[in-house]
Amino acid sequence: MSSHSHSSLRRFRTTCDCGIPYDGPLKAWTMENPGREFITCKFYDYATGRRGCKFFEWVDEGILYWQKDITNQLLLEKKIFQSQIDLLKREISRHEEDGVVEVLMLTAM
Ligand SMILES: [Zn+2]
Repeated sequence: MSSHSHSSLRRFRTTCDCGIPYDGPLKAWTMENPGREFITCKFYDYATGRRGCKFFEWVDEGILYWQKDITNQLLLEKKIFQSQIDLLKREISRHEEDGVVEVLMLTAM
């Protein structure tokens, strides 16, 4: 109940504690909060962690464990596929340079 009134309050907020329009919504890509949206101080610096004020709020109401699990799994698979594609691209260009036509054998990674 209290979180409900909190989120409806947030909708009317347009600035961070510095008094300027906040940044976001931005997407977090951590293992704990993959793809979850948040708003934060305009002066937040991701590299150093420095910020103008402490203003930070998640846009949505939490992430469910199965959403977190499936998102992290899909992100991992995407990474694996991308590295396989990169590998195959290099393999193909190597064969093109050699002028050799061959059947590429895909091996599971
Ligand atoms: Zn601020």
